[in-house]
Amino acid sequence: MEIATFIGKLSKAPISGEAKIWIDPSKTDFQESLARWTDVDKKVPGAIVFPATENDIATIVKLALEASVPFVAKAGGHSSWSTVGPHGFILDLSLMRSVTVDSESQTATASAGALIGDVVKAADEKGYAAVTGTVDSVGFIPSTIGGGITLLAPLVGFGSDNIVSARMVTAKGDLITISEDENRELLYAIKGAGQFFGIVTSLTVKIHPLSILGTPGGTVWSATLIFDVSKGAAVAKAAIQVKQNTTRSYCLAGVLPAPPNLDPIIMAVIVHLGSKADAEEAFKPLLDLEPMVIPARDEVPFGKVNKAFQAFESKGGLKKWLAVGLTSTEQFQPEDMTLLIEQRAKVAEKFPSAKMTGSVIEFTSSGPWDKVTAEKETAWSHRDIATWCHLLCWSFDEEGLDYAHEVAQETKEHIRQRQEEEEFSIYSNFSRTAPIGERFKGQERLEKLRDLKLRWDPDGVFTNEFL
Ligand SMILES: Cc1cc2nc3c(=O)[nH]c(=O)nc-3n(C[C@H](O)[C@H](O)[C@H](O)COP(=O)(O)OP(=O)(O)OC[C@H]3O[C@@H](n4cnc5c(N)ncnc54)[C@H](O)[C@@H]3O)c2cc1C
Repeated sequence: MEIATFIGKLSKAPISGEAKIWIDPSKTDFQESLARWTDVDKKVPGAIVFPATENDIATIVKLALEASVPFVAKAGGHSSWSTVGPHGFILDLSLMRSVTVDSESQTATASAGALIGDVVKAADEKGYAAVTGTVDSVGFIPSTIGGGITLLAPLVGFGSDNIVSARMVTAKGDLITISEDENRELLYAIKGAGQFFGIVTSLTVKIHPLSILGTPGGTVWSATLIFDVSKGAAVAKAAIQVKQNTTRSYCLAGVLPAPPNLDPIIMAVIVHLGSKADAEEAFKPLLDLEPMVIPARDEVPFGKVNKAFQAFESKGGLKKWLAVGLTSTEQFQPEDMTLLIEQRAKVAEKFPSAKMTGSVIEFTSSGPWDKVTAEKETAWSHRDIATWCHLLCWSFDEEGLDYAHEVAQETKEHIRQRQEEEEFSIYSNFSRTAPIGERFKGQERLEKLRDLKLRWDPDGVFTNEFL
C-alpha cells in the first residue's frame, strides 16, 4: 500500500489522542527528529509516527503489517539502522519515556523510548544504581536488549543479565509479556538479541542499592586524564596493569582529536566503583604518568558518572563504530596503542575531513560477578571479552569515511593477531554487517536463535537477522 493511503487509514484507527503523525519533511521539527548519531545511510521517511501507549504500538504495527508498509523503531537514534525511505515510516518512540521504580522488588520499568539518562536519573533519585551504558542519550531498551556493556559489569553483570521481564509487540502485532512464567523462550532472546524479535514496549530490570558502591552517599571516583601522544604505549601499559590488579575499575583510554585543531591526544576516562582513597591507589600507575591536563578528578554521585562520556554523544557527521573484542588481556599489548596512534595519523593526513577519527580501548576489571555461572546462558555471547577496542571512524565527507573505515579494518586485523579465529568477536550493538558468528558466538546459541526467529518472526519484520 502507498504510504499516503496507509497514513489515511492510520489517522482513522483507534490510537490514543496523544499519538502524533508527521508527514511533511519540509517542516523543521520533522527534520530535527531525523537527527541521528551518524548520518550514514540516513534517509527521509514517508512519515514519522509517534505512539503514546503500548496499545498504540500494537495497533500501528498490525496496520503496517496488513498494508505491507515497512517501518523501523527509533528510540535514542544512536544507530544507523533507525531509518527508512519514503515508502515507509519511522516509529518514533520518544513520547514514551516514562520510568517507574519499585523499591520493594528493586526493579525499574522503562517505556519503549526511555533513554539511558532517564533510567539512571529515576533509579538514582530513589537510591539505586541502574545497569546501563555510559552515554545518557542512547536508547535504554535497545542497548540493554542488545547486551548492555556497562561499567557496573564487575559488580552486577551486563545490562541484559539484569532483565526481569518485558512487554513486546510481536511480528504479528500481538502484545505479549515475556518473563520466567510467560513466553520464557523469548527471555533468552531479549537478553542479547532483542532488537530482532519485536518492539519492546516496556522493560523491567533489576536495580541495585547504591550501597553496592561501598561509599557513603553512593559516590564513585571519576577522572579524565589527558596525556601527550608520546605517552600512548605507557598509558596502555598502566591501564592493563590497573585492569589486572583491581576488581572495581573502569578505564576507557585511547587516541582522540582535541579541539581546536583536532590534533591527537591520549585521553583516559577512569572510574572506580569505590572510595577516593581506594581509587587513587587503584589508578596509581596511570596517575604516576603525570598527565598534561586533568580536566576532571573528583568523587561524583553515581547518577552523574555518565557526564564524563558526553564527548561521545554528539549527533550528525558520518560515523562508523567498530567494536572489536579481545578474549584475553594479553591480546592487547602496549605497542598496539602506538599502532592506533599511527593509523589515526594516516587517516588525518590523507583526509583532514576525517580528523575526528580515533580509537579507545575499554579496560574493565573482572569482578566477583564473572565467577557466577548460573545466569550465563542467554543470547549475549560476549561475556568472555577481556578488552573492547572501539575503532571510531568519523568524517565530514564520504571519501574520508571510506578511508577511515578501510584503515579501521586494517587495524582490526592487526589487533586480532594474537587471537584464534574462533574467538573473533564484534559487539552486536555496533554492527549488523560483521559475520553473524562473530556477533553471536557459538553454534548452539546461533541455532537456538535461528529456531526462535523462525517461530516468532519468520518473515523478517524485525530484520532478516538469523533467517
Ligand atoms: C556514542 C555511543 C555510545 C554507546 N554506548 C554504549 C554502551 O555504553 N553500552 C552498550 O551496550 N552500547 C552502547 N552503544 C551502542 C548502542 O547500545 C546501540 O547502538 C543501540 O542500538 C542504540 O540504541 P538507540 O535507541 O540509541 O538507537 P536507535 O537508532 O533509536 O535504535 C537502534 C535500533 O534498535 C531497535 N529498537 C529501537 N527501539 C526498540 C525497542 N523499543 N524495542 C526493540 N527494538 C528497538 C531498532 O531496530 C532500531 O533501529 C553506544 C552507541 C553509541 C553511538
